[in-house]
Amino acid sequence: MRYRLILLSLLLAATFLPGQAWGGEIRVVTTVPDLAALAEAVGGDRVSVRSLALPTQDAHFVDARPNMALLLNRADLLILVGLDLEVGWLPTLMTGSRNPRIQPGKPGHLDAGAYVEVRDVPTAPVDRSMGDIHPAGNPHYLHDPNQALLVARAISNRLIRIDPEHAEHYRARLATFEAEARQRIGRWERLFKEHEGKKVVTYHKSWGYLLSWLGLEEMGTIEPKPGIPPSPSHVARLLARMRADPPALILLESYYPDATARLLGERAGVPVLALPGGTDFRRGESYLDHIDHILRDLARAIERGLPEEAHK
Ligand SMILES: [Zn+2]
Repeated sequence: MRYRLILLSLLLAATFLPGQAWGGEIRVVTTVPDLAALAEAVGGDRVSVRSLALPTQDAHFVDARPNMALLLNRADLLILVGLDLEVGWLPTLMTGSRNPRIQPGKPGHLDAGAYVEVRDVPTAPVDRSMGDIHPAGNPHYLHDPNQALLVARAISNRLIRIDPEHAEHYRARLATFEAEARQRIGRWERLFKEHEGKKVVTYHKSWGYLLSWLGLEEMGTIEPKPGIPPSPSHVARLLARMRADPPALILLESYYPDATARLLGERAGVPVLALPGGTDFRRGESYLDHIDHILRDLARAIERGLPEEAHK
């Protein structure tokens, strides 16, 4: 009884924390901010959305904190990336949430990874203890707006199931989002037409969806396997390949350590570009504006190359 009272007071406190008040009828919690921005695009004022991780955090490794379990306790819908991206931290939070609505198999549990075209699915079983953190295929599909379109449709369908009285609201918002996304996708493809076939080295194996969509080639990764820090021998081999056949640039999310990327960039004469890992949802950025932002920076970095003085 006492425990329940403490839990209740914690929940009430959470409700009144600044920035924690729920607005819309349907409470949506997502693991990453890209999913939060998509849920908001489709749900509009019918939903209030929170993201557990920030765009400045690597979603493979998030510290599960008590306030996250409290957010999940009150959620009507949990949306996750899936493909084992959150396997290290989300299961504990889901148990701690004591919320039956968001458990697997329930309408309030949406695993978005089940709705996309998954890349890099291992052909042989991968043991996570060997260090590869993409054992179910590549979970970084949200960098590609074509995959995000599939996710937005899945979110709309799920919101209609949870909130059927407002089905038309969700259908109309999805149609608006799809029309804008398709228009921008056409524009982005034209922007990268002249760069087709150019090679890119990345830190983590997280940009394959985006690079392949834009006709760019994923030449190699600084991590020898997803989640394994670079070893001297791997870096030496990669440098030799980069000197023989220089890529257009080295690309990484800004939350990764950049020392090895900078070193390789200097030695091979290749520019390094660090991009945000996701939508700045808390500051009101939309998913499509986030993609626009990273693609403009990417195109500019490829066009500009390394400043002259850096070659010396
Ligand atoms: Zn990854």
